[in-house]
Amino acid sequence: MSDDADVIIVGAGLAGLSCAATLASAGLRAIIVERDGRVGGRVRTDTVDGFALDHGFQVLLPAYPEAKRAFDYGSLGLGMFTRGALVALDGKLARVGDPWSNPMSALSLGWLRVFGVGDALKLAKLRARARSYAGSLGTSTRDELANRGFSSATIRRFFEPFYGGVLLDASLAAPAEMLYFTFKMFSEAGAAVPTGGMQRLGEQLAAGLDAETLRLNTPAARVGSGEVELADGGTLRARHVVLATDMTTAAKLTGGTVADHGWSATETLYFDAVTAPTQDAVLVLDGDGKGPLLHACVISNAAPGYAPSGRHLVSVTPRQIGLAEKDARAHLRRWFGAEVDQWQLIDRIVVSQGLPKGPFTPDTSLPTDAGVVVCGDHLATRSINGALASGRHAAESLLD
Ligand SMILES: Cc1cc2nc3c(=O)[nH]c(=O)nc-3n(C[C@H](O)[C@H](O)[C@H](O)COP(=O)(O)OP(=O)(O)OC[C@H]3O[C@@H](n4cnc5c(N)ncnc54)[C@H](O)[C@@H]3O)c2cc1C
Repeated sequence: MSDDADVIIVGAGLAGLSCAATLASAGLRAIIVERDGRVGGRVRTDTVDGFALDHGFQVLLPAYPEAKRAFDYGSLGLGMFTRGALVALDGKLARVGDPWSNPMSALSLGWLRVFGVGDALKLAKLRARARSYAGSLGTSTRDELANRGFSSATIRRFFEPFYGGVLLDASLAAPAEMLYFTFKMFSEAGAAVPTGGMQRLGEQLAAGLDAETLRLNTPAARVGSGEVELADGGTLRARHVVLATDMTTAAKLTGGTVADHGWSATETLYFDAVTAPTQDAVLVLDGDGKGPLLHACVISNAAPGYAPSGRHLVSVTPRQIGLAEKDARAHLRRWFGAEVDQWQLIDRIVVSQGLPKGPFTPDTSLPTDAGVVVCGDHLATRSINGALASGRHAAESLLD
């Protein structure tokens, strides 16, 4: 019986798409079977009444080396976030600019209020360490910050709401390697979103593949050496099989060869605001550590297409899933005033499988005894960069 393709890839998230793109550029024919009706996996966007609602507050860090290889930034129409943050302290918003792109901002009152002189210097050292960092630490983000002498006030005012948001875990239990990696990426080129939503990332990768490559709404039920059994009873055969699903599905389909470490979860509330509460795309952080929200941002200030003309999209991330809307509004009122009462809640999106927990893994892929190569962010830095890199590694391991 002849093979259906050179390689069958299960999953059209960024890892699977990156794997397919690498194979295609080497002249190999791949088929991707995807359970869902769209590509991109966890990087997805719903359009509701002209608003682009990403599944979770997600950003692309343009300095990601894998993203530079994979995407055409020009066609994505990247809109940049303002560097730095607005930190809410005692009912006032203190602006903490990025002194490396704007040296004068280091002299602002905001820096003094949020960090104090001592921790501002430690932040500069942390940045220098992040930029040259390579290797493995084995500590949590919180322990690493404490080991570097940051006060608990600075951790609460800045690191918890900022990195708690990035790592989907305000307890800062994520591996410290993720802190260094993301700090380096933020410091090199800031953060961005594509015009019209994060879903454009997966769509751009898919657009570069042959039309026959993608089979949407096609869940795989079993994988083995050279074959993939589909949920509808069909079987696809190829020389190689790549499993590019999320961690939990990979653990199930490999019979436990892949470890399931559990997930960090998150929720985002999206509001339609007639007047934008900030003029720029700056992240507003809860520096007091007392309220139910972690951060908020007028995401439509970053890139066009997130809100219809004349309207603004405010993305709000609570500390816990399931926060009552009235409690979210009460906290937002402390930051932005009574105007918040005019905002309309568009939707709230819960992502129960956000980022894989577990120990730090350098970007890699995993050949299994069953003749299947596994890839995905659970085998990499938990990020867009990690997923892309892991998918590319899986393809390269087959090409080798
Ligand atoms: C809320 C949130 C915020 C994030 N924020 C950021 C951020 O700001 N910056 C950043 O760099 N990263 C961020 N990430 C992480 C980043 O989105 C992920 O690391 C990356 O998208 C994972 O890609 P993946 O291909 O490894 O996995 P997935 O995206 O999970 O892709 C797996 C694919 O496999 C498919 N699949 C599963 N089972 C089957 C089956 N049986 N048959 C066929 N197909 C199947 C799924 O439908 C899915 O399409 C965030 C993630 C979330 C959820």
